[in-house]
Parts: sequence; C-alpha cells; structure tokens
Amino acid sequence: MSIRPKVLFLACAAFSVSAYAQHGIDAGDINRNGAACNDFFDYANGAWRTAHPIPDYMDRWSRRWESGEINKEHVRDILTDVSKKTDWSKGSAEQLSGDFYAACMDDARIDALGAKPVQPLLDEVRALKTPADVQRTIAHLHDIGIAVPFGLMPAQDLHDPTQMIAHLTAGGLGLPDRDYYLKPEKRFAEAREKYLVHVAKMFELAGEKPAAAKSDAATVFAFEKRLAEASLDNVALRDPTQQDHKTRFADLGRLAPSFDWAAYFDAGKLAHADLNVTQPKFLQQFDKELKSTPVAQWRSYLEWQVLNAAADSLSAAFVEQNFAFNGKYLSGAKEMKPRWKRCAESADNQLGEALGKKYVEKYFPPEAKARTQEMTKYILLAMGDVIRDLDWMSAETKKKAQEKLASFTVKVGYPDKWKDYAGVQISRGSYWDDVVAASRWNVDDGRGQIGKPVDRARWGMTPPTSNAYYNPLLNEIVFPAGILQPPAFDVKANDAVNYGAIGVVIGHEITHGFDDEGSQFDAKGALSNWWTPQDKEKFNARAQCVVKQFDGYFIEPNIHHNGKLVLGESIADLGGAKLAFLAYKKSREGKAPEPTLDGFTPEQQFFIAWGQWRGDEIRPEAQRKMVQGDPHPIAKYRVNGPLSNLPAFKDTFQCKADAAMVRPAADRCEVW
Ligand SMILES: [Zn+2]
Repeated sequence: MSIRPKVLFLACAAFSVSAYAQHGIDAGDINRNGAACNDFFDYANGAWRTAHPIPDYMDRWSRRWESGEINKEHVRDILTDVSKKTDWSKGSAEQLSGDFYAACMDDARIDALGAKPVQPLLDEVRALKTPADVQRTIAHLHDIGIAVPFGLMPAQDLHDPTQMIAHLTAGGLGLPDRDYYLKPEKRFAEAREKYLVHVAKMFELAGEKPAAAKSDAATVFAFEKRLAEASLDNVALRDPTQQDHKTRFADLGRLAPSFDWAAYFDAGKLAHADLNVTQPKFLQQFDKELKSTPVAQWRSYLEWQVLNAAADSLSAAFVEQNFAFNGKYLSGAKEMKPRWKRCAESADNQLGEALGKKYVEKYFPPEAKARTQEMTKYILLAMGDVIRDLDWMSAETKKKAQEKLASFTVKVGYPDKWKDYAGVQISRGSYWDDVVAASRWNVDDGRGQIGKPVDRARWGMTPPTSNAYYNPLLNEIVFPAGILQPPAFDVKANDAVNYGAIGVVIGHEITHGFDDEGSQFDAKGALSNWWTPQDKEKFNARAQCVVKQFDGYFIEPNIHHNGKLVLGESIADLGGAKLAFLAYKKSREGKAPEPTLDGFTPEQQFFIAWGQWRGDEIRPEAQRKMVQGDPHPIAKYRVNGPLSNLPAFKDTFQCKADAAMVRPAADRCEVW
C-alpha cells in the first residue's frame, strides 16, 4: 500500500513489456483451433495463455504483465549494484536508492523490530484527548503522506491551468470504494465481514487484546461507512465537473467550521489562497465527525489508518496479514511477490527519478526514443485526418478540436529535468523511517508547487514504469521508457507489429484527449466547453453506443461491466486501434510492403500484435474487483470490444457480416 498522494485526473492505461528472442508476433501463441472472426482475443493468444498459467504471485498474466515483471528485474539489478557500496556521497542518487533498497531487503532486521518503527506514531494517536489533538495529528499524518480522512494535493486550477493550486480531496477508506460499504450484494456483504476480521487482526498485531480489537474494528467500520456515504461513487469520480468547486480560503471555514484551516495551512507552509474542494459533501461530513464523534473513536480510526499505511513496511506478520486481505482475498493472488520485487516497486514509487536515470542509460537507447516520436507524429496526423473527415461534427467544433490536437505535448522516455532528492534522510537503519522520509520529501515537493505557475517539465510516472498516461490539464501524452520495451515496442520488429502494440497505446492516449472526460478540457487544459450544443449531443449519442456495448459484457451470470465506468477507456481503445491502423498505412506509403510472417499479412500482424500484447488470463477475484472499480475493461473486452466495431479488422480477416467479431451495422459504435 502506497502512502503517497494519488494524482487526480490521470486517465491512463496499464501495460508492459518483455525480453524477447523473437521480434514481432509469435505464431506459436495463436490458438489454431479458434477462429479470428469468432473470438479474436482467444485466437490471438489462446495457446500462450494455455502454456503460461498465472504465476501464484500475480492476479493476472500475459506477455504484457510478464514484461512488466522483467522491468522489475532490471530495476533490481540497478539497485543491487548500487547497494553493494556503502560509501556513496550522502544524498547522491546512488546512496539514496541503494540504502533504501538495502533497508527494505533486510527482512531479518525488519522482523526483529516488529511494530517498533511505527510505535511513536501509534503512541501519538493513542494519546489523543481533544478535537484539537485530533487536528494536529491529522496535519502530522498529512506531512508524511498518510492522507486521511481528506487529502491535500497540488494540481492545476481547473479554470486557469497555468497556475497550481491546492485541491482538497476525499479519502480515508480502507476498502476499495464506497460501494463496498453500502451495497447489499452478497460479494460486498462478504467483503465487509472479511474486512472487520482483517482490521481486528491488525489491531491485535499492534498489541490489542482480541475483544478490544474486535470492538475497535467495528468502530472503524462504522466511521468509514459514514465517510463512504458522503463520498462520490466511481462513475462520478470520472466526471471533472462534479469535482470542480473553486473555494475562497475564507469560505473553507463555512464548509467545515470545526477544523482550524489557518493552523493547518500554516503548518504546511501554505498560503491562505483559493483552492478547489473536490467533494464539498465529504468535507462537511468530516466536519460532523470532528464536532460530534468522540475522540476515542477518532483514536481507533487513525490508529487503523496508520497501521494500514505502514503494514507493508513492517515485520512479516503485518505484511502477511495485509496480503491475506488485499492481495489474496480481494485480488485472488495465491502468494506474495518475492521480497526483492516488493522492494524494487517501493524504491521506484518513492525515489523513482533517483534510479530512473540509470535505468534509462541501460535500457532505453536513443533510437527507441526517435522511433516512438516518429510513430507518435503519424498517429497525431491520423487523428487530424479523422477530425477533418467527421461527417457529424460542425466546422466550428472541428476547428477547436484541431486546435487542441495541435497543442498536444508528447513526452517520451524520461524527464529532461530530473528531481533532486537533496535532503532526504535515507539510511539502512529502519525501512519504515526511510519510507516516511521519502514520503515527507514527496509531500513537500508537491506542496512546493502550490501557488506557483505550472511546471510543464514534471512527470507523473517514473521512467521504469510500464504504463502511459494522458493528462487533460496539461494536454500531454506521456510514455515512460518502461513501456517502450519488447514486445510492446521493439526497434527490431516490423512497423506493423509496433503500430499494433505500442501504436494502439499511443492512439489510445491521444484519444483520451477527446473521450467523455478529456473532451471537456480545451487546448490550454482548462475545464471549458468548446463544443456547440448540437455537436455535444451527437458526441454523447455516440458515447452512449459504447456504454451500451460494454454494459452487455458479462464476467459472471450476474456481474457485467458498467458501461459508464469504462466509457473513457473504451472510447480510447476504439480510437486507438483505428488511429494506429491508419497511421501504420500512412507511414508505409511509398515504401516496399513489409514481409508476411508465418503466412500473416502485415495488416494481420498489426491486429495480432494488439491481441497478443493486451490479452491476459485473470483470476475471478481480480476480475470482479476490476469490473467494480477499474475504469479499464478486462483484457478480453479491450481486445474484442473495439475490434468488433472496426471495419479495418473485418476486412483484414475477411470476416463474414454475421460473425461474432462483427457488430451488426445498427449496433456498431464509432466515436472518433
Ligand atoms: Zn487509458
């Protein structure tokens, strides 16, 4: 569990990579008994999935996830190497990341310390007597990245994206989202029961007697349930207008009068300036809790939140209990990841740009950057052509859309300016203390941006990350070096294959600028409507087609995707596949055709590359969790959903009009 504040409004897709002997698609991974036009997901990667069961430590598995894990091996090699030396100059990237990793890997020492590292924090919470004490401790927890029950994060002003302001956010829940507390379905009721047991066990590990632990767990649950009732649900969280509440500092006191905002902002060295309250109703509930909930209940709640944040950094008993609930029960993993993987992930989370430089030097050649930039150029051009040719959009709105497209920023590989972690105190003494020190630095780094012009050079992901994102407030697409690895991207592979895998990802991120959420932000990144009412209505009708399509995808008899929740990602997948295919064709104009591979034409290779890279096997628990809370559909429908709408797919595999992979004309969705 990370204790760093989450970044708002990042619409991203999750992906990855791998070390490959073969450059391109692998015909051996295809299910030859299947039919491309019947179930392309199964056709493209069915044989691979049969031959590669999900490892016990994962909740899903594909070539994409495999390559993400290989990335972690690269990170480990770098960390192991720097941690061998103990005389790096204090504060250097090597000293910080090397000592952080060494402290994390020293499980004998961590186990011997038990709950001791977190004891001072627990003592502080257990000593709370008055509402004023509660407020001081909330501020202290925020200083070290434990953002409960609300959080404060830097983000751009939604209406003036040149400026960074504070955003007050809702948080403080131990279950994944509000529905887990409130919905009557059996799976949520069961999760609540298991959660109560889990929280009680954590209290016991921190030294409570079983009866007290049980009663404290019940207090925590009731407390969090009240917060959940005042929180937005997952669909509302995707709607920026529902989180747009610019507030004068003076009015914070009206919204939540029981909290001393002046003292809180002063302690954080923050000016008393205008800010955005993302969820006013939540803040009012927080105020009610401060005013009327006995401090004894606050003690239980905050103690639990401290334990929850610290669990993964403490002894094996805490780590295992945390895994039993979050990893095993909620996600279906059978065993924990090896310690080195967890430590590599943690080092990357906390000090990612310290080791990122070395990662890039070793695993991201300049030609990979150049080729990605070239592909991106063609895919942006394809989007320009698509907008130009739309038959449903007025010239007026098209002009605005083209303006927005022309102002996209593209970031590839790694930041031009690296973070300087000077002053972070990292040693091999106590892993939890290192996590706190790094979190504190990250919190300060964030607070330092508030009240200043936006720094467009910053990155929201670290270089080794196997992922990508679109940020509507900066109107930028970002592809870390960690995703630009085989088989998503391979400098030695055919263009057809690269466009089919990473190209679709690039098209996906570009389309996010024009999905149901991104389309509400203009060329400058402001939340501002640039659509004529008629065009907006037509766009919404097209989006509704996608909602309906995904509402119809079931994972179990009574559980299906929530079309509204996955709308943005599904519009992006549909646009991404279309754009990358067009861009591939355009990029090959005037060049000799690429070779067939195992009898597959370049166009077929394009789609197979997408199906092979994206397709995964997933555990039922993880699938249920995704359908409930993840704005991304499961891989099967990320492959079959968009492709069954795409005429280029139908033509490439010569599918009959009534094939399962060809949606009837009346149901066919096309947004962009
Ligand atoms: Zn996405």
